[in-house]
Amino acid sequence: MHIVVVDSSRVVLKIIADLLEPRGHVVKVFTDSEAALAFVTETPAVHVLMTSLEVRPLSGLELCWSARLLAESKRPLHIIAMSSAQNARNLAEALDSGADDFIEKPPGPDALYARLRAAERLTSMQEELIRLAETDPLTGLLNRRAFFARAQEAARRVGAHGRLCAILADIDHFKRINDTQGHDIGDAVLQAVAKIFGAEGIVGRLGGEEFAILLPHHALEQGEAFASRLRVLVAEQRVRGSRGPVRLTCSFGVSEWSEGETIEGLLKRADIALYEAKTTGRDRVVSAATDIILARAG
Ligand code: GH3
Ligand code: MG
Ligand code: MG
Repeated sequence: MHIVVVDSSRVVLKIIADLLEPRGHVVKVFTDSEAALAFVTETPAVHVLMTSLEVRPLSGLELCWSARLLAESKRPLHIIAMSSAQNARNLAEALDSGADDFIEKPPGPDALYARLRAAERLTSMQEELIRLAETDPLTGLLNRRAFFARAQEAARRVGAHGRLCAILADIDHFKRINDTQGHDIGDAVLQAVAKIFGAEGIVGRLGGEEFAILLPHHALEQGEAFASRLRVLVAEQRVRGSRGPVRLTCSFGVSEWSEGETIEGLLKRADIALYEAKTTGRDRVVSAATDIILARAG
């Protein structure tokens, strides 16, 4: 496991690192709690944070709290508070501040290893729960909620002047496929389409037979070209049906993010373009031209 250890004493840090490293753990030690928090923040691989309560500039309790907020249901992180004066008050305070466990300092090898085994069990379970909560079970793509969460993150990373494209895709006459081929073949069609869409970008199944793809660093023309390639791949796809291969097509709406726009706004414009693709014949890509859409919205 990736473990971060924080203590004001280099001697204590060395004792702990010497216990952990031979067991295959990747250990990073800090005397500065703020630097430790920054490292944990930018390193999702860190699954365990062990901190003394007596550290600076953030106190151990503050560090526990900040790390807990950071992890909150988004990533697995097991926080172990350490204190030389193990008493009920320290213990209660540490747990109330977001620590999962408490250990006396310096920890003995047996107690330390046992606690890390517990941490490993809990973080791998957390990891699995997070994965399940984010995944659409049929296609393995992000579900609606996770897609929007990832999309917001991506928009933040892209910043005020970056580019970002959204593609909304909806399988054409999918109800007909279900009606003529049966629900199971319908599901296989959804899986086949998800496989085509899932190769690049942030990809989610928003519901039913509707999918969304977010492409950071793509301008509108690049997004259109991307959607056009997907359109061809879907049209060339054959899914094994009860009476021979099943053909399918998809319609696409593409929009490019403009400064100040929300992800919801961006997708709304892609949705209007998708609607146009549907009403003008399906199996096509339509772009949301910002000016036209604004004129319509007004
Ligand atoms: P359009 O070309 O206008 O998009 O028509 P459509 O038939 O694709 O759209 P419509 O919204 O009328 O039908 C969508 C169908 O998708 C209805 C619903 O039963 C089916 N559906 C939704 N979720 C699933 C699923 O998980 N599996 C299967 N097999 N079908 C699903
Ligand atoms: Mg449809
Ligand atoms: Mg639909």
